[in-house]
Amino acid sequence: RFISFEGIDGAGKSTHIQAVADWFRARGADVQLSREPGGTPLAETLRDLVLSRPMGPMTEVLMIFAGRCDHVETVVKPALAAGKTLLCDRFTDASFAYQGGGRGLPLSVLEPLADWVQQGTEPELTLWFDLPSEQAAARRAGAREADRIEQQDLDFFERVRAAYAARAAKAPGRIVRIDASGTVEAVGAQVLAVLAQRYPA
Ligand code: C5P
Repeated sequence: RFISFEGIDGAGKSTHIQAVADWFRARGADVQLSREPGGTPLAETLRDLVLSRPMGPMTEVLMIFAGRCDHVETVVKPALAAGKTLLCDRFTDASFAYQGGGRGLPLSVLEPLADWVQQGTEPELTLWFDLPSEQAAARRAGAREADRIEQQDLDFFERVRAAYAARAAKAPGRIVRIDASGTVEAVGAQVLAVLAQRYPA
């Protein structure tokens, strides 16, 4: 099975991926973790470039989808074929949010790229960690050095958040909103409730 984790920077998704991995491992699943941008040596190199070099939105989206293509072909598909539980920190929804909402690329650019690169490979569940941009910015402050994208202003992150909301509205069965504004415990409880409901023993 394939599960992705999404949300604006500072939403806390990376913390909860570990808890989800533990939850599945306790149930005997063969869990594999991955991330985007990145997840393969080539895609990690592209990630470093995307996060450090100034570039236009079209270059950015092509580099991210080039990395995603390599990730889908060499990590995602083999993991799913081997029956693993693949937990991925970000996937294509992030491109609709960041390159679409944030950077302003239209769906007419994003949708064909997504179809072409994913070739039917889609998460069965996407946990979307949602919280107001101001709160996310406060959590990011001091956490670690901001990359090129994280230096964007609050307007940018509000657009990213709105694009996630639009994406969730179009895929209500797949994308589940988690209210990420609470404590780690409160957010974790919501995550576990979703898992217990989706994957009954
Ligand atoms: O989730 P993570 O912190 O690894 O993401 C790295 C950076 O890449 C973040 O600043 C995120 O906002 C950005 N990003 C992006 N477009 C994507 C995915 C991530 O700009 N499609």
